Amino acid sequence: MITIKDPVMMGYLLFVAGVFGAIFGSFLNCMAYRIVHHESFLKGKSHCDSCGHELGAKDLVPILSYVFQKGRCRYCGKKMGARFVLSEILLCVVFVSIVWKYGVSFDSLRYLGLACALFSLSFVDLDIQEIPDGYIIFGIIWWIVTAPLVTLGQGGSVHDMLMSLLGGAIGGFGLAIGMLLISLLFDKIMGKDSLGGGDIKLFFVVGLYVGIAIGLFDVILSCVIGLILAICVRKEMIPFGPSIALSTWICVLVGAQFVTWYISLF
Ligand SMILES: [Zn+2]
Repeated sequence: MITIKDPVMMGYLLFVAGVFGAIFGSFLNCMAYRIVHHESFLKGKSHCDSCGHELGAKDLVPILSYVFQKGRCRYCGKKMGARFVLSEILLCVVFVSIVWKYGVSFDSLRYLGLACALFSLSFVDLDIQEIPDGYIIFGIIWWIVTAPLVTLGQGGSVHDMLMSLLGGAIGGFGLAIGMLLISLLFDKIMGKDSLGGGDIKLFFVVGLYVGIAIGLFDVILSCVIGLILAICVRKEMIPFGPSIALSTWICVLVGAQFVTWYISLF
């Protein structure tokens, strides 16, 4: 990790992180939309959803296009959903917070990748109550690819890397098996499905990144967030992916401190 002490340099770095966050937020939100509507997200130009007009560079500047066009399409004048600009602002904030915490490091790179997957899958889950396996596979591959970078970047040896992979695997399997057992128990008591298969797979991925100790905190926190959201929208069942994503973001930022504090109580 490169420590940046100069506040101006740090400010510039956070600004760049924020710009990239907004650009990725725009792209990943569009990707989620296209997955939901069974469109290819690699091919095809962006277009207005109501008039179908192809969008130019002027229409695609994250956040700014929305602000300057007052949230309307330049061609048909129809109001665009606030979801576009909100998603850009959200990932902008997420990127800034991760770089603020982890600086210029491979940890930042690892968590930014995880954040992108969690962000995009949350939108898909909100729309169709499903977490496509592609996100799960990306999460696992990204974890494996960044493992040597993170360990060697911290000056660790190959042995350290293998231990961190083992730690992650214990976290992943621990969380997934734990959640599977809890959901089977709940299904039996309530007589209906509580957790989807996608949620359990997502807990597996999250466990790889945060390990078992922070992972347990993550599980509890995502249940609390899910419960609060369900009460807020007054629905008995809501997609769980966004709650897991939000909770994991908090865990990546302050999970280690929380676990240290909790252990110090005993
Ligand atoms: Zn239009």
